[in-house]
Amino acid sequence: MNFDFDTLVIGAGLAGATAARRLAEDGGRRVLLVEQRPHIGGNAYDCLDEAGILVHQYGPHIFHTNDQQVFQFLSRFTDWRDYQHKVLANVYGQLMPVPFNLHSLAIAFDEEKAARLEKKLIDTFGAERKVTILELRQNTDPEIAELADYVYEHIFVHYTMKQWGTTPEQIDPNTTARVPVFLSRDDRYFQDKYQGVPAQGYTSMVAAMLDHPNITLHLDTDARSLITLGDEHLFFQGEPFSGTVIYTGAVDELFACRFGRLPYRTLDFQFETHPVEWYQTCATVNYTVDQPYTRITEFKHLSGQIKKDCTTIVKELSRAYTGAEGEIPYYAIINPENNALYERYAQLTRRYPNFHLVGRLAEYKYYNMDAIVARSLSLCDELLK
Ligand code: FAD
Ligand code: UDP
Repeated sequence: MNFDFDTLVIGAGLAGATAARRLAEDGGRRVLLVEQRPHIGGNAYDCLDEAGILVHQYGPHIFHTNDQQVFQFLSRFTDWRDYQHKVLANVYGQLMPVPFNLHSLAIAFDEEKAARLEKKLIDTFGAERKVTILELRQNTDPEIAELADYVYEHIFVHYTMKQWGTTPEQIDPNTTARVPVFLSRDDRYFQDKYQGVPAQGYTSMVAAMLDHPNITLHLDTDARSLITLGDEHLFFQGEPFSGTVIYTGAVDELFACRFGRLPYRTLDFQFETHPVEWYQTCATVNYTVDQPYTRITEFKHLSGQIKKDCTTIVKELSRAYTGAEGEIPYYAIINPENNALYERYAQLTRRYPNFHLVGRLAEYKYYNMDAIVARSLSLCDELLK
């Protein structure tokens, strides 16, 4: 690779694209960005399918944030389609809003019981409050306990078993806390101030981020074929390299998984195009009690495309990541044991002062897109001081 650069960014997902842009633009860095996939955008990548529908190849992505700095940064590269995400649970054929809220309560119980429960919940926790399922299950009031059991059984336990292979008690409590019980009639999945999808899609947004004369992009390039982590120095194509390196991939893979593989969940996506205008009434339906898949998302609800003759959906099926060729690690399985294993790998990278881990994989965290952009911007602030 014959290119004069002083900064190497590995991975063209949102973490890498944010860092590349910021360092190129505000630091005057000459950035080499390498990406192993044949496209930019990481897991937020979207493209038109054969039916001309904008699909998210690695699962549905909805942007939402309260972070004005992140929103302003991304808004330089895209306009937004103002989309407020809504999700329904399919409970034995009956549809109810998720997060489970006061509308769901009225669907699940008869009128008199729903009214009584609503009053009790609001007296106990307060109106418009978000209560996690684990918190709700700790309440000793018999009626609240019965409701908690209902929500646990009909919304959480089977979905979580499908997604994580284990029960809600055994996963990181922050994970189920992402979808609380919401004592409100607000049916939106997120309440963040800024919410939407990029008007022309995520790939276009990331392409605009990377459109800078100081950034050179190489797709289909695995960084492991370029860099070597020696005992003390980092080498690029055999030469010591002292410029900044930002790595956004899985950290165990850098060290040939020498302490064992970091556990992740992977997903299989089943895309289907149907000859109907609409497949379902909202973007995502969670199958919380049955079916092998966790959820079905219909993309036209996200993109706003008007197309009467067909629609494309995706079903998501989760399973353990094995590291087999072609499998993608999507979700870190956060628990003390895995975090300790991660820390052993992260520690190995600390001997290289110019090497930085940032990203959902590289940090082994459950980051949303806004959090990863914020994290990447703040790392760049440090590097540019
Ligand atoms: P990634 O997008 O994974 O990018 C890392 C990139 O590095 C990849 O392109 C990878 O190919 C590349 N790479 C790795 N190793 C190497 C190597 N050795 N050499 C070269 N390249 C390498 N967030 C939201 O805010 N809203 C949502 O609705 C939402 N939905 C999601 C749905 C699913 C199914 C999933 C899995 C995630 C979702 N997220 C969502 C989270 C979002 O995908 C992440 O926050 C974001 O993509 C993280 O960006 P990243 O750059 O850290 O990682
Ligand atoms: N969850 C659930 N039932 C639902 C929705 C979510 O049990 O209908 C739990 C499940 O454990 C899931 C977690 O809450 O993994 C977080 O859900 P979220 O929708 O935030 O997951 P993501 O979109 O990141 O896959």
